[in-house]
Amino acid sequence: MKKFQSVRGMRDILPSESRAYRALENILISTVQQYGYEEIKTPILEDTNLFIKSIGNGTDIVDKEMYTFVDSKSKSFSMRPEGTASCVRAIIENGLQESINKLWYSGPFFRHERPQKGRYRQFHQFGIEFIGVKTHVADFEIINLANSIWKNIGISPQLKINNIGDPNDRKKYIEILKTYLNKYKSDFDDNEKNKLINNTLRILDSKNPKLKEIIESAPRIEDYISSESQKNFQKLLKLLNDENISYTRDYKLVRGLDYYNNLVFEYTDDTDVTQNTLCAGGRYDFLFKSMCDKEIPALGFAIGMERLLEHIDYKIESSDTVSFYMAILDEKYFSYSQKVSNIIRNISKKYNVSTSYNFSNLKAQLKKANKISANYCVIIGDEEVKNNECQIKDMALGSQKTVNIDELNKYLKPDKNLEYKENE
Ligand code: ATP
Ligand code: MG
Repeated sequence: MKKFQSVRGMRDILPSESRAYRALENILISTVQQYGYEEIKTPILEDTNLFIKSIGNGTDIVDKEMYTFVDSKSKSFSMRPEGTASCVRAIIENGLQESINKLWYSGPFFRHERPQKGRYRQFHQFGIEFIGVKTHVADFEIINLANSIWKNIGISPQLKINNIGDPNDRKKYIEILKTYLNKYKSDFDDNEKNKLINNTLRILDSKNPKLKEIIESAPRIEDYISSESQKNFQKLLKLLNDENISYTRDYKLVRGLDYYNNLVFEYTDDTDVTQNTLCAGGRYDFLFKSMCDKEIPALGFAIGMERLLEHIDYKIESSDTVSFYMAILDEKYFSYSQKVSNIIRNISKKYNVSTSYNFSNLKAQLKKANKISANYCVIIGDEEVKNNECQIKDMALGSQKTVNIDELNKYLKPDKNLEYKENE
C-alpha cells in the first residue's frame, strides 16, 4: 500500500515539540502585549503581485522561493513567504493607516528553499509591525522589545545593526558597488553573477569564502548615506549605548527584501552555522507609499520560531499548568470521577485533568500517571465514593491524602503551589 509522507521540507509538529512551541509563543505574546501590540491574522494566500510589488523582483524570495499557483479563473495566488506585505495590505484595505498601529502575528510561512537544519519550506514566524512613527525612538523601542523577549526566554543572542540609507542613497551606492564587484566577476559562481546584476547588495552577505576578502574591501554604504540619516542613526546608537544594549555595527548587513531603508538588524546565535539568524528586521518607510500613495513610516521584525526552538534546544516549559490523572478502580465510578474532574477543573483554568480508561488495576493506573508526568493522581475506589471523598497522591513526593470532594477547593487552592498539608 502507498505510504503517504508529508511534503518535503514541511514537518509535523508533534505534541512533545508543540508543548515547547506553545510555551515559547506564550512568552512572546505576553512580552509584546506589554509593549502595546495587538494581534493581526491575515490569510495564507495573497495576490501574487502583492509580494512582487513589495518584496521586489530580483530577490531570492520572489525569483525562486514562492509557492505560486493559478486558480480556475486564471488568477495568480501565492502562499505568504513573509508577514509584512500582508500586514501593510490589511492596514490599507481596512483604513487603519491614519493611526499608530502596533501589531503582532504568529503563524506559518512558505518558501521553496533547499530543506536543511533551520531551513524548511513551511516554517513559522512570530513578528511585529510598528506603523506610524518615523524617528529613532521607534527604532530603539523595537530593539528594546526584542531584548525584553530574549531576557524573558533567558537567552542573549547578538545584535547586528546597520544603516542602509534611503532608496536614493542606495541607488548611488549600488552603482558604485557594482563597478567594484565587476572587477572580480571571474570569482563568482552563476548565482552570484546573477545577483551582481539583479540584487547587487545581497552579494555582501554571501557566505562564499572565495568572496570574503573582496567583500571586506568593498566600498561601504555608510559613505553614501545622507547626513540626516546618519545623524538619526547616531541618535539610535546613543540610546542603545545609554541603555547598555550591546550591538555590533555590521557594515555588510543588508536584508534580502527590497522594502527596507535606513535601519536593518539581525539577532544571531553564537554558533557559526549558516542558519543562525534568529530574528531579523528593519525599517520600511516607503512600502506604504508604493501601495497607497501615502507616506507612512513603519518598521518591524520577525523571529524564526523553529530556529529559536532549536537554539534553546526545546528546553522551555509552561510551568504554570498542573496536571491531574484520575485513577478509577471500577467502571461504575466513572460518572463520580467525572464529577470530581469537573470540580478540579473549575478550581483553576490551569488544572488539567485526564482520565484512565483502564478501570481495574491501581498499579497500572499509577504507572500511567507517572508516564504522562501527572503532578497528581486522584484515586477513586469503593471507600472514596461511599464517603464522598477521593484520594490525592502527590506524584513527586509520593504522599497521599484523603479529601472530601466538597472541600477540594480548599486543598487545591490555585496559585498557592497546591499546598495541601499532610497534617491539615
Ligand atoms: P536567511 O538569511 O536565513 O535565509 P532571511 O533573510 O530569508 O533569512 P527573513 O525573511 O528576514 O529571513 O525571515 C526572518 C526569520 O525567519 C529568519 O531570521 C529566520 O529565523 C526565519 N526563516 C526565514 N526563512 C526560513 C526558513 N526557510 N525556514 C526556517 N526559518 C526561516
Ligand atoms: Mg532566506
